[in-house]
Amino acid sequence: MTDHVMPLWAIAAMTFKLQSNEINLTCDACDGWSPDTAAHSTTSTPFLIYLCQKYFTLGTTGADSQGGTILHELTHFTYSFQENGCEPLPNDGVACQTQTITINGTGDYAYGTAAAAALAASNIHEARYNADNWEFFYENPTNLQ
Ligand SMILES: [Zn+2]
Repeated sequence: MTDHVMPLWAIAAMTFKLQSNEINLTCDACDGWSPDTAAHSTTSTPFLIYLCQKYFTLGTTGADSQGGTILHELTHFTYSFQENGCEPLPNDGVACQTQTITINGTGDYAYGTAAAAALAASNIHEARYNADNWEFFYENPTNLQ
């Protein structure tokens, strides 16, 4: 999958999971985490997001919002689903096949708006797999047009 196609598939996969009510939120399991942690998740418990005390102090818009924090965590999970694709053949026929699309979860390569912007400028591939880049793209804290 090319880098420019991945975000579209990832958005579709996350939307499907949200609409299927397969995302679970809990307020447990933040003991031992920094008070600056708003939420966390782990790939060993897919689609379970732990909301910490700080999450409830976040705003609803701008950088580090509640919605952006949820999106940040959603991008960490790996999504896998079936896709049916058909292509026209030279003899006017059609060839169809089912393929499995797997979107690997993001990492935390850079935290914060300045670090995410610097990563996007220096390494666009890694920025596409950085959770904060997804979050700030969604939140648009600098009001990009
Ligand atoms: Zn993260």
